[in-house]
Amino acid sequence: MKKSCLEIVQSKCEKCTACALGKTRKNIVFSDGNPETAKIVLIGEAPGEMEDESGKPFVGRAGQLLNDFLAEAGISRDEDLYIINTVKCRPPQNRVPEDSEKAECRKFLNAQVDIINPRAIILCGATALKSFVNLDKKQTISKVRGQWMTINVDGKDYKAMTIFHPSYLLRNHSLDEGSPRRLMKEDLKNIKDTILPDVNHFEDNKVEFINKELATV
Ligand code: SF4
Repeated sequence: MKKSCLEIVQSKCEKCTACALGKTRKNIVFSDGNPETAKIVLIGEAPGEMEDESGKPFVGRAGQLLNDFLAEAGISRDEDLYIINTVKCRPPQNRVPEDSEKAECRKFLNAQVDIINPRAIILCGATALKSFVNLDKKQTISKVRGQWMTINVDGKDYKAMTIFHPSYLLRNHSLDEGSPRRLMKEDLKNIKDTILPDVNHFEDNKVEFINKELATV
């Protein structure tokens, strides 16, 4: 049901040229994940070059790093998450999308969140955070990340947490206490324990594995 509703939104998005990004894109980057099982919507910034080529969000080195962190936290990218960006088309030279572009594209994001109706939203990086929260001058992503908050998407409140963008973590390798990578692990563990306490993919996989191993017994 969710899938067929999203297909209608996607077909409209594929024809969209409402902002300048529509003129230079190769592909729209609509989403990734299983809409029928996703419990969390993760919102990133914008498609980059590889995303524009593949039509899929968070691929390449940053995407792989995100996958590694998710797997370690016990969050399934394919089953637990529905991944989108603040804009569906790649900004030239990977610049930050402009407010007017994000505003123009918001109708698609709003529809996707409404259809998925997630238990929580992850704001991945400063651009996603600033799209939903008015920060004062003293607030930075480093101060806001890891805190549960309520954000409003098209008139409806959702539980949300901000995490670092994996592109930032590619430039910060330390795993020392208080380092961005260590904080990312802590934040994802918090999200898993708070939002997905009833989901245990390890146990699911183990049962499947045992069944396969004993299939002929
Ligand atoms: S970024 Fe969004 S609003 Fe702009 S052309 Fe692409 S789909 Fe349309």
